[in-house]
Amino acid sequence: MHLRSDKPYSLLRHGLGHVYPSLRKDLKAEVVIIGAGITGALVGWHLLQKGIQAVVIDRRHAGMGSTAASTSLLQYEIDTPLNELIKLVGEKNAVLSYLLCRQAIYDLHEICKQIPSKPFFNLHPSFQFASYNNDVRKMEREYLLRKRAGFNLQLLSVDDISRLFGFKKPAGLLSADGGLVDAYQLTHALLKHGQDKAMLVYDNTEVTSIGYDTKGVTLQTDWGYKIEAKELVIACGYESQTYLPKKIEKLHSTYSIISEPLFINEFWHQNALIWETANPYLYMRASADHRIVVGGKDDPFYNPARRDANLPRKMKLLEQSFGRLFPHIPFRTDFAWAGTFASTRDGLPYIGTIPERPHTWFALGFGGNGITFSLIAAQIISDVLSGKKNANSRLFDFSRTAGTKV
Ligand SMILES: Cc1cc2nc3c(=O)[nH]c(=O)nc-3n(C[C@H](O)[C@H](O)[C@H](O)COP(=O)(O)OP(=O)(O)OC[C@H]3O[C@@H](n4cnc5c(N)ncnc54)[C@H](O)[C@@H]3O)c2cc1C
Repeated sequence: MHLRSDKPYSLLRHGLGHVYPSLRKDLKAEVVIIGAGITGALVGWHLLQKGIQAVVIDRRHAGMGSTAASTSLLQYEIDTPLNELIKLVGEKNAVLSYLLCRQAIYDLHEICKQIPSKPFFNLHPSFQFASYNNDVRKMEREYLLRKRAGFNLQLLSVDDISRLFGFKKPAGLLSADGGLVDAYQLTHALLKHGQDKAMLVYDNTEVTSIGYDTKGVTLQTDWGYKIEAKELVIACGYESQTYLPKKIEKLHSTYSIISEPLFINEFWHQNALIWETANPYLYMRASADHRIVVGGKDDPFYNPARRDANLPRKMKLLEQSFGRLFPHIPFRTDFAWAGTFASTRDGLPYIGTIPERPHTWFALGFGGNGITFSLIAAQIISDVLSGKKNANSRLFDFSRTAGTKV
């Protein structure tokens, strides 16, 4: 797949990161992970913490899939509002999914503190505004449900929004819990730290086939070597669909821009992560280097040529949308990029096994919360593979009916 356009900002900013060799010998491992994006890096790192030395393998350079394009907002608010998710998966599972995403933000913070290179992490509130008057009732219901579930959030009026953000919208939800990382930088930090301990990382090596027997899996690579392992983790991002018998993902195109640095420390209230109720939604955030990232204007198709050709027009639309909210901020686009992303019908990830592929775990964090889902996948899979019980191991598995249609 052609996952993204050429120059996402994180990639320009951090360059190649660390360089890993391609695999030029046969290997035996306890666990092999296909995919050295944020998901594979988190799974590998978690396994290492539990004493399991994994091999991570990628056909691209590490982090160069969707991870390099990520705008890296960390929000517990899943793309499906809690009140709708309850209808799809029941109240207990819906609330638990939200709570796990909230915990994932703080767990990522702890991980960033533990890694010697100290990858970037900041906590910020998350602010969702009602795009239309019609959304206000739904937002009030959402507020009550989330309050009942124990979330720390405020329902903001037109005047509150005007005071804190300087624009007028009919209502808004200000959640205390949210964060920011740089997914590409974090991926390299995790892989490098893992490699310094005992993890093996190979990039520029494609897995061309997977064989199964009672003892485990055998992967063949494009260089003609094989990896035998007891367990396999598929962390191939949106390319994982090829390993599944049923379609679970819907592909979209999305667009992002980043401003030139603006020497302002606080653009709006606590530099909250801003998004809205409209679907597709516009979102924005501040960056560590005093820029503003704006994203959205999604298209419901996977066609990389059309997606990338749309970029100049989408850039203008994103600038206009930003300018309508913040006419006093002199936003000038420095870089723009486009990417593909996948959603599921209920907005939840797929983490689990399927009978067709024994000894294999899928770590598929789809949707706008890909990174928090990757962390949850890493926790569940590393627990199960190290023989520890994980109470949430069934929550996102393939048996849930809602996910089979997209
Ligand atoms: C523009 C954009 C903005 C986003 N913004 C956010 C955001 O604000 N917050 C958020 O949480 N999420 C966001 N996401 C989603 C998030 O970036 C993704 O969920 C995440 O990067 C997926 O990581 P991954 O490791 O699963 O996949 P990838 O980064 O794509 O990594 C998978 C890797 O598997 C490798 N691979 C695949 N098949 C094979 C094979 N056969 N052999 C060897 N290697 C293989 C690929 O080369 C790839 O490097 C955004 C996505 C995009 C595109």
